[in-house]
Amino acid sequence: MELLKQRILQDGRSLPGGILKVDSFLNHQLDPNLMFKVAEEFRRRFEGVNVNKIVTIEASGIAPAIILGYIMQLPVVFIKKKEPKTMDNMLVSEVRSFTKNRVYTVCISNSFLTANDHVLFIDDFLAYGNAAMGMIDLARQSGATIEGMGFIIEKGFQHGGDRLREMGYNVQSLAIIESLENCQIQFR
Ligand code: 5GP
Repeated sequence: MELLKQRILQDGRSLPGGILKVDSFLNHQLDPNLMFKVAEEFRRRFEGVNVNKIVTIEASGIAPAIILGYIMQLPVVFIKKKEPKTMDNMLVSEVRSFTKNRVYTVCISNSFLTANDHVLFIDDFLAYGNAAMGMIDLARQSGATIEGMGFIIEKGFQHGGDRLREMGYNVQSLAIIESLENCQIQFR
């Protein structure tokens, strides 16, 4: 998606350790116009895929997911990164965070992810695919089917996308970064 790539080049900063900082439009301040265009692009790419629910993971997936949910007129559920005391029918998994370098428990209520669901999973970044693997585990526990996975930015050099595509998932990434070496952003 050309507009997104331009924005990444303009405002993104490559940090040591293969991290891209896009705090000015995606991870801290949010650009609603860009989020709308991102959501439209996801809708276009998943046209014809039979989906009844969008699932994302807090926090940065929520903004694009809610706009996509509005456009597609579908409910949006976000996977929580902390176990709430009040949640019924909880399904739990573990995810390693690459940016924070720790393992955290993720959960979703079985009331909102069931065997009847055909899910589109949306997230801000795809790196090693750990968050996506958490989604896959929660879907397996609930019996839900994952019909597609959409990421705003995929870091191709960390190979989570290869892993998911090899597993047979329909993975759509709107910008794929080939390299962040020498603090230079290079797209695939
Ligand atoms: P994965 O689970 O695929 O290894 O990593 C994806 C998750 O880690 C995303 O939900 C995102 O929050 C975070 N993440 C991974 N790489 C980056 C990055 O380069 N920049 C930012 N801002 N977040 C990242």
